[in-house]
Amino acid sequence: MHKVLVTGGAGFIGSHLVDRLIQTDEIGQVTVLDSLTYAGDQRNLVAAMDSPKLQFVEGDIRDTDLVGDLMPSHSAVVHLAAESHVDRSLRDVGNSVSTNVMGTQTLLDAAMRCGVQKFVHVSTDEVYGPMPTGSAREGDPLRPTVPYAASKAASDLMATSYFVSFGVPVCITRSSNNYGPRQHPEKLIPLFLRKLLTGEPVTVHGHGQHLRNWLHVEDNCRAIELVLRRGIPGQIYNIGGGTDLTTLELTGRLLRIVGMDWDSVTTVADRTANDIRYSMDWSKIAELGFQPRCDLASGLAETVHWYRGNVDRWPVAEATGTLADGAELTAVGA
Ligand code: NAD
Repeated sequence: MHKVLVTGGAGFIGSHLVDRLIQTDEIGQVTVLDSLTYAGDQRNLVAAMDSPKLQFVEGDIRDTDLVGDLMPSHSAVVHLAAESHVDRSLRDVGNSVSTNVMGTQTLLDAAMRCGVQKFVHVSTDEVYGPMPTGSAREGDPLRPTVPYAASKAASDLMATSYFVSFGVPVCITRSSNNYGPRQHPEKLIPLFLRKLLTGEPVTVHGHGQHLRNWLHVEDNCRAIELVLRRGIPGQIYNIGGGTDLTTLELTGRLLRIVGMDWDSVTTVADRTANDIRYSMDWSKIAELGFQPRCDLASGLAETVHWYRGNVDRWPVAEATGTLADGAELTAVGA
């Protein structure tokens, strides 16, 4: 029976992945390693906590001793722990680099020492940078424009180097923008929903024509599990297949679902770095057997239902995208 270490398992995508993995017969134990930053929440694991397969360890992926003690009893790692928000990376570059690059390296070192059978490193389409036309393939150059994306790109390169130099069986997944229940309200969809559901206006940055591919979190987790089982070491897999929408198109959809109109929308100047378009070719993961299943209309309806039922989950400041010093998060990218 496999034992899988999931870093960042108390976060948005990680908790959905844990829910999936503990239902898998061949997996005998799922260990979550998570330091419970502002983005991590054990309530995300409430369903999984009922399973004897779940072990939760509160700790930091940069803690060499802890990671070194934990890793040897596991046959596989799925690494999701990260500072995942673009705006916060603009305000504290060092924290993104420390967690996303140094943390990944600490895990790779331990994986190398104890010979894990698979190390899935979870990354993002943002590493390719803006794609004014066409779609990025896995071997394309990385041209990140913001510190978050640059730190993820650096961690991808570090992971690849551990495969080439030391034979660590690394696979990398790069997915488009995820949405669904439990996402922290600093991200665009929950930020807008939380504001609209409490009668506050939402703010669109610039012309609102920034294009993103919106993929339901369950679809991404199915693809990550597929790569865990069948991904070829050393390979990168783009995970797309969601719905392409500009920020204005997405805003229109959210307004319709909650029954509000454009009077609830204001615009402000764009930030300096805001990639105009992301697009990936995901034929490689499709060849491995992946097809997304969740259509945007039902996925968004389910997401709205969840946020309606969890209005009090985050403090008002966090729910409305305000940092401790009063600065407002812009949530343009993801
Ligand atoms: P999230 O911010 O919701 O969760 C991150 C989790 O990592 C949290 O539980 C946090 O407590 C934990 N964490 C942060 N720093 C840590 C540290 N030093 N040690 C241990 N735990 C730590 O993020 P998410 O949206 O679930 O994203 C998960 C992964 O997927 C990230 O690597 C992100 O780059 C990637 N990704 C996200 C998206 C998206 O749309 N959300 C898209 C593509 C890729």
